[in-house]
Amino acid sequence: MSTRTRTADTARTADTVPEIEISGLHKSFGDNHVLRGIDLEIGTGEVVCVIGPSGSGKSTLLRCVNLLEEPTGGRVVVGGTELTDPDVDIDAVRRRIGMVFQQFNLFPHLTVTENLTLPQRRVLRRDKAEAARVAAENLQRVGLAEKADAYPSSLSGGQQQRVAIARALAMGPSVMLFDEPTSALDPELVGDVLAVMRMLADEGMTMMVVTHEMTFAREVADRVVFMDGGVVVEDGTPGQVIGSPAHERTRHFLSRLL
Ligand code: ADP
Ligand code: MG
Repeated sequence: MSTRTRTADTARTADTVPEIEISGLHKSFGDNHVLRGIDLEIGTGEVVCVIGPSGSGKSTLLRCVNLLEEPTGGRVVVGGTELTDPDVDIDAVRRRIGMVFQQFNLFPHLTVTENLTLPQRRVLRRDKAEAARVAAENLQRVGLAEKADAYPSSLSGGQQQRVAIARALAMGPSVMLFDEPTSALDPELVGDVLAVMRMLADEGMTMMVVTHEMTFAREVADRVVFMDGGVVVEDGTPGQVIGSPAHERTRHFLSRLL
């Protein structure tokens, strides 16, 4: 069971400024019209799980939220900054947004600590001592303090993914995006990664999580969004979307997972 209490503590009212605001978002790759008008608001501290069949546009949606892909149309606003403004400082926006991928993308020739300090020094211009301090603090958070001097190849997939999460956290993001963070892991390693994500949720991090882990979605998400064919088909509480889906497409998708 989740130990989260913040949903009740921090009732999100309509006048709360959303941390992420997506409106009328379209994305095409050539003739392939992948996102067909996405409207989504995510409040500060909210955890939203995005589910849906392969090819429905989940990764493209996340990638539009940190401008790894440029939207074809519509607006994306993160922390009050409009990403779709042509004059936006993309680097400044990306610093606010941590992203964790299915593949961990650690530098194999660097130690765990060096993997965490490099982006802090390059992007945030932190000095060596400060970067090392923040690295140690975040390795501690994901339970890997003792792996500080190890190389990624000596770690399990689950440990590597926790390092990737720590690396993103070391940048001090206000939003974390996860794209199927446990899909590449052996089943016995999934739990440790989900536990770290659950801790972040409990701490109040704003999170968008693409996942097929329905137990995680049910227990940790404030909302579940079901996407199909580049649109949001359903958006509601886990109880609504997973427990009693209103749409046949959602029911069909869930029946194949369970
Ligand atoms: P999902 O994550 O839900 O499986 P994706 O967002 O990865 O879906 O992909 C949705 C569609 O967009 C697919 O048809 C895919 O081929 C296409 N697509 C994704 N990224 C690119 C890209 N960089 N270039 C061309 N097509 C892409
Ligand atoms: Mg994907």
